[in-house]
Amino acid sequence: MDKSTIVEILEKAKTEGRKILTEPEAKQVLQACEIPVNKTQLATNLDEAIRLAREINYPVVLKIVSPDITHKSDCGGVRVGIGSETELRRAYQEILDNIRAYNPKAQILGVAVQEHLSPAAEVIVGGLQDKSFGPTVMFGFGGIWVEVLKDISFRLAPLNSGEALEMIREIKGYPLLSGYRGRPQTDIEAIADTIVKVGNLVAEFPQIKELDINPLFVFEKGKGVKAVDARIGLGESNE
Ligand code: ADP
Ligand code: MG
Repeated sequence: MDKSTIVEILEKAKTEGRKILTEPEAKQVLQACEIPVNKTQLATNLDEAIRLAREINYPVVLKIVSPDITHKSDCGGVRVGIGSETELRRAYQEILDNIRAYNPKAQILGVAVQEHLSPAAEVIVGGLQDKSFGPTVMFGFGGIWVEVLKDISFRLAPLNSGEALEMIREIKGYPLLSGYRGRPQTDIEAIADTIVKVGNLVAEFPQIKELDINPLFVFEKGKGVKAVDARIGLGESNE
């Protein structure tokens, strides 16, 4: 874990009076923990977005970067599967129009240009400082699996990879990861590794109040995982 890089990113947000890191900042923290993330670069104008998309290679994803917007797709701030420069020009403008319509006062730091990926599964890995239990990690499937079915598991942090594997195996949706009825077997070891690293991070940094990798893209066995969205909320270490 590259602690000095993490401290630097957390201090910058604190100095600017922000309690939430932007997605690109949160991904830098993950990278400093050696958690893989998808290629993500910040563009502050259309020409820069075009240049970055060429570098990253199409298809790409565009996402609004604003400290005032936490659920980006709820307000039209995310476009996936952009296949060409023509599409990118249109998507860039649409995102800015959507955000201005949603909240004219939102501070816009730019638009993140990211590599578009196709996963075998989308899961959530979270970390938080629980009021009673202290540093804790969470694992589950995304979307309705968390919201409706509450199919999630928790452990105290820090934890080892055996405990992380148990956490993964105990959710009801586990067969969807393990190759049930001809589905691809996914990289469960890489998910466990990510849970262990998130556990170490929240145990080491009490000022990280909550962390969500939602989604963590999971690929076929041996092909790893990549965080495509990340959210980190900050508080005082004694809060
Ligand atoms: P938010 O959670 O703030 O609405 P996300 O960054 O999670 O925004 O994007 C919303 C959804 O778009 C994700 O749950 C995922 O299904 C899809 N998505 C996000 N990034 C990518 C990507 N790089 N490649 C493919 N799909 C993506
Ligand atoms: Mg998300």
